Amino acid sequence: MGANDVIIEKNFCNGQWEAGTGTRIAVINPCTEQPIGHFNEASAELVDKAVTAANTAFPGWSNLKGSERAAYMRKMTAAIGDNFEDLVIMQMANCGKPRGEAEADISGSVDCINYFADRAEELDEKRQTPVDYDIPGYRSSTRLEPMGPVGFILPWNFPMKICAWKLGPALAAGCTVVIKPSEITPFTDTFWGKAAELAGLPVGVINVVNGTGAITGAALSEHPGLRKISFTGSTRTGKHIMKAAAEDVKNVGLELGGKSPIVVFEDANLDLAARLAVEGVFYNSGQCCNATCRLLVHESIKDQLTEKLIGEYQAVVLGTPQTPDMTMGPLASKPQYDKVTGYQDIAREEGLNCVIGGGRAAEFNTGYFVEPTLYTDVPKSSRLWQEEIFGPVLCLRTFTDEAEAIAEANDTEYGLAASIVTEDDERAERVAAQLEAGHIYNNVSVAIPPETSWGGFKQSGIGRELGPWGLAGFLEVKTVTSRQ
Ligand code: NAD
Repeated sequence: MGANDVIIEKNFCNGQWEAGTGTRIAVINPCTEQPIGHFNEASAELVDKAVTAANTAFPGWSNLKGSERAAYMRKMTAAIGDNFEDLVIMQMANCGKPRGEAEADISGSVDCINYFADRAEELDEKRQTPVDYDIPGYRSSTRLEPMGPVGFILPWNFPMKICAWKLGPALAAGCTVVIKPSEITPFTDTFWGKAAELAGLPVGVINVVNGTGAITGAALSEHPGLRKISFTGSTRTGKHIMKAAAEDVKNVGLELGGKSPIVVFEDANLDLAARLAVEGVFYNSGQCCNATCRLLVHESIKDQLTEKLIGEYQAVVLGTPQTPDMTMGPLASKPQYDKVTGYQDIAREEGLNCVIGGGRAAEFNTGYFVEPTLYTDVPKSSRLWQEEIFGPVLCLRTFTDEAEAIAEANDTEYGLAASIVTEDDERAERVAAQLEAGHIYNNVSVAIPPETSWGGFKQSGIGRELGPWGLAGFLEVKTVTSRQ
């Protein structure tokens, strides 16, 4: 596998590699706008075959000891390790990410599966727990049971890693899975099928179907043979999935959009604040669900911080993964490029104050490159303040006191993440307690270790991934009450 190879992506179904029979879909390199592969969409029939395989494999997989499942999971991460460089090259070619970010995606996937392999081992001990109560003649215990065969529907911004966040806990719990990668970035997520094959997992434990949301995704979310759909993507699609799952009361895990704030107080270290602000909105070219794209700054430090931000913006090196010292790549696809440049057009129509950037990156003849952009004094009513842009676009507003900062930070339909920059630890704790978001960062860069939780308040989602909460998301609780 190499960046210039044309790969015909297939589906992994019941231990076999099968070509789809549907519409042929090209996979594009966002730096060159040229195809690097294609696949034929998996039909509803192929999805049905994959779900049947997951159902057939479920009794055998769920009845293994946790330690046996853990051993398979570690063999899978070894297979990823053996193919690490190819996977990094593929991630760079398909997403345009800097090498360091592509490497972090793949190594983060390995870390996550290994973390949940440890949890699988512990599950043997924790599966049955007595309940402590006092009703004469009664005794109870709870049992943790795997939910059953489950489906994953995935986005394009962190292929492989976001799947690992679902696959680790599902396999540890004893569930079997059907994975649907994003049609924009199918390569590294389809490798999960290869990893299962190389690790010798029992047939049907992991299945992969490639296709669009409208055909393959819809067939998966509507399929009555799955007990849960774990979805990461936009809030709009999440609502579709929830409706489809309602038909047979399937469980849903929803990791959706965001419009996260970064709040900089008057006592902040301004160099740190500027660095955290740009990191928060530039990582993966701003295509992060947790991008801190709403910058709330105390009015007394706005001008100083803006100066420092301009310095940080000027240090960005836009380029392809092959450009020496590049720090930011293109957007991942033409639709995403159209969306972000569309917001830059809206900003012009709204008359926003653009301090730096504001358009496509004219130095590139090809590729979905946009200028890192900063708008200040953005009115609360602006669409750029309200809506998820998913690109390197930062909007700044000022506040006068802590209460106003918290109110503005929470004034959004989303609640995924938030950052606080202050030298006052008591204030940081007080503000963190009042922010409506699933993960709060205080004076640090965004990191998401598998031991922590991930998920959103409000329209950013339902449920939590990672940590013990991620495992609980694939377990049913059963209580057995008997005569004493
Ligand atoms: P998207 O909603 O367009 O697509 C996500 C997946 O859903 C794709 O696999 C797509 O094929 C599928 N899909 C689309 N329509 C469907 C339908 N009707 N039925 C079933 N499946 C369907 O999202 P995207 O553009 O791939 O990803 C970007 C979005 O994901 C952003 O909103 C971002 O905030 C969000 N996201 C959230 C998190 C998180 O952890 N909360 C992480 C990454 C991305």
